[in-house]
Amino acid sequence: MDRLKNKVAIVTGAGQGIGRGIALRLAEESCFVVVSDIDEANAQKVADEIKQSGKKSIAIKCDVSKKMEVDNLIDKTVENFGALDILVNNAGIFPYKPFLEMAEEDWDKVLSVNLKSVFLSSQAAAKIMKEGSKIVDISSIASLVAFPQLAHYCASKGGMNGFVRALAVELAPKKINVNAIAPGAINTPGAGQSSDEGIKKQTISMIPLGRIGEPEDIANAVLFLASDEASYITGQILTVDGGWTIK
Ligand code: NAP
Repeated sequence: MDRLKNKVAIVTGAGQGIGRGIALRLAEESCFVVVSDIDEANAQKVADEIKQSGKKSIAIKCDVSKKMEVDNLIDKTVENFGALDILVNNAGIFPYKPFLEMAEEDWDKVLSVNLKSVFLSSQAAAKIMKEGSKIVDISSIASLVAFPQLAHYCASKGGMNGFVRALAVELAPKKINVNAIAPGAINTPGAGQSSDEGIKKQTISMIPLGRIGEPEDIANAVLFLASDEASYITGQILTVDGGWTIK
């Protein structure tokens, strides 16, 4: 399919998990995808996978919490593809830590990677994006409901939701749409590390649709919000969680 033919997208944290799923899905729709990750080798693997399917892709290493690296990501994208139409802010970390043991460094790291990053990349991108461009941020249901041992993470994703609404209003005159997706439990390498079989069963019992989500479930929602079909939608947080938070 060609729903994003000749559009240029950046997906951050796309070396694995949800980001990889988004990069592959956008590429399937003939989008030129810049696969970005702090892990350069993983980013390159995903870009190679896309190229093997006959689509265009490049890998660019970027730690999203560092302004110089983010600016370089945007500059290199424009150098290679001539424009930036879609920015998907997906990179994020979720290190579990009981609140009373949480150090200042733990807090700063999570807020820096999950929230400051989105300020940096959105500002650099919005300066060069043309009318009709889209920014899609990957939030979490942790922005809506409580998750113990993730106070810093919940704060970062709640902050992201507020940022999305504020930015949507500021960028509306430029006709740039800004939205977020709030995933529930998704099967990724990052999430896998923090859940054993018992915890998985307990998680599934919370989900009306009776399964853990796959990266493709999030990628399909990103595809919609990144497409022209979503041109009258802005400032929204779309929950994709199998019904977890409706109960
Ligand atoms: P993941 O499997 O851990 O993948 C995240 C990727 O981002 C990894 O390749 C990671 O590299 C990279 N990354 C980490 N720090 C980075 C940085 N500073 N700059 C650039 N890249 C960085 O995670 P995921 O489960 O796919 O999660 C992706 C996003 O979805 C996150 O924003 C997360 O909060 C959100 N989310 C996930 C779930 C879920 O259940 N999986 C639910 C709700 C929301 P390294 O592996 O080298 O660190």
